[in-house]
Amino acid sequence: MSKTIAIIGAGVGGMAAAIHLAAQGFRVQIFERNASVGGKLNLLECDGWRFDTGPSLLTMPDVARDLFAVAGASLDDALELVPLDPTCRYTFPDGIIFDTSSEQERMMATISEFSEHDAEHFPRFLDYGRRVYEITAEPFLFNALDGMPQVGSALLRRLNRPQDLARVLSPITLHQLVKRHFRDPHMQQVFDRYATYNGSSPYRTPAVYAIIPYVEYHFGVWYPRGGLYRLAEALVDLLAKVGVELHLNAPVRRVICGGRGVMGIELVEGGDIPADAVISNVDIATTYRYLVPEDARPRAFVERLASMEPSLSGFVLLLGTDCRYDHLLHHNIYFSDNYRQEFFDIFERRVAPRDPTIYVCATSRTDATQAPDGGENLFVLVNAPYLSDDFSWTAERENYRDLVIDKLERMGLVGLREHIVFERIITPEDLEARYGAQRGAIYGFSSNSLFAPFARPQNRAPDLPGLYFAGGSVHPGGGLPLVMLSGKIAADLIARDLGVS
Ligand SMILES: Cc1cc2nc3c(=O)[nH]c(=O)nc-3n(C[C@H](O)[C@H](O)[C@H](O)COP(=O)(O)OP(=O)(O)OC[C@H]3O[C@@H](n4cnc5c(N)ncnc54)[C@H](O)[C@@H]3O)c2cc1C
Repeated sequence: MSKTIAIIGAGVGGMAAAIHLAAQGFRVQIFERNASVGGKLNLLECDGWRFDTGPSLLTMPDVARDLFAVAGASLDDALELVPLDPTCRYTFPDGIIFDTSSEQERMMATISEFSEHDAEHFPRFLDYGRRVYEITAEPFLFNALDGMPQVGSALLRRLNRPQDLARVLSPITLHQLVKRHFRDPHMQQVFDRYATYNGSSPYRTPAVYAIIPYVEYHFGVWYPRGGLYRLAEALVDLLAKVGVELHLNAPVRRVICGGRGVMGIELVEGGDIPADAVISNVDIATTYRYLVPEDARPRAFVERLASMEPSLSGFVLLLGTDCRYDHLLHHNIYFSDNYRQEFFDIFERRVAPRDPTIYVCATSRTDATQAPDGGENLFVLVNAPYLSDDFSWTAERENYRDLVIDKLERMGLVGLREHIVFERIITPEDLEARYGAQRGAIYGFSSNSLFAPFARPQNRAPDLPGLYFAGGSVHPGGGLPLVMLSGKIAADLIARDLGVS
């Protein structure tokens, strides 16, 4: 008889784990507390508007391709992936506009309008990230950090030049690395911003995260036609294809533990589900706080989780307008005047910045299905501090909404306020309440220290046999490709532990 696996949560990591396990012959059941799958990858549809409420860009599409192949399907048959080039339009407070491209020659030509020196250094900067990727991807991203000696020797095998070690263990921050390559302050801000892709500050996250711009420029920026939520819908088709049982509106109350470890889960609506192993796709800090019974929580580990700094959160406005903004691209950034102050506000003062950098995604610029004729669907995202007593979104949400709209109007979205015909606000409190994101953190934990890449919790619970984790708060990290990989890693560990592989 096949072994049974219960998965808590139908976020992307949970669905990826389920597909891998079912394809290997396990009986897999997913229990999702919300009425729809996707977790942070979600959708709001109303009166002809379609808004992705979370992710707005897909990188490393081959990770998704591999997942589809596991289920005997093809990503490119299921979704039309549209490459975006220019990849993003950056607008600076001094009025300067800079469009990025995934074509190196074009990027160098545009950067040279700011600085010849910076244009020459752009390929060197990407090369730094490329080497880090080549050295670390296999041992760190694609596999469990299971036995440190194996990871260490896999790393050593790849270090074939002295400068490789210096790159992987570099004691400098991403910002310091950026400053070594780019002199123009505009360029520095553009490349510093990549720290936010892992929920961190460029002034504290280590230089190894130069891997992020490399990945974006090398693998491209993709938009699935119809919106990012099409990816979640396609994953549901894969679940059905491999025979996963998906239960929506099925919140889990707790993990059931016995003398020899995890025995299953208990549903809020009543009923125990026995299982040979359980995967929690819920944020690991939330899992230990609410789902693992108190007497089964390893104290030292729970204390370590509590001491780890959460990642950035986000304040989101979904705005439907009755006019077009033709100067918008699909992805747009409106920068703050003082980036260092912005991150100081977010991570040290833990308050929403008064002069935020604002990201605007208008999928309506490339896809007519996203907004009624003559309108735009603006997904507006501002980096926000994780929840703490230092800032109250309940008190500030309307004021902050006004501050963001004022800035967008000043920076070129003329008359925005009068043209909004549909509006929703999503605060960090909503992210916590809807998806169980601890303190509203988008990516679980920040990577704001030198050892962050090694400190992320792993995919198998310490001291609690039978409990595993998949999702953005655990190895290898947040963001769509990485959470898909975390699902694969959790599935591989289970297959190995249950003696199936
Ligand atoms: C505003 C925003 C913008 C983002 N932009 C990007 C981007 O452009 N590109 C990118 O790659 N990534 C982006 N991300 C990050 C990306 O969305 C996440 O890293 C990823 O979707 C997290 O997946 P996960 O597997 O960790 O599951 P989660 O999304 O965290 O889902 C966990 C699931 O568990 C469920 N759950 C919780 N508690 C229970 C319970 N007790 N019982 C049953 N179910 C439960 C939740 O309802 C949820 O469905 C963004 C995220 C946000 C919020």
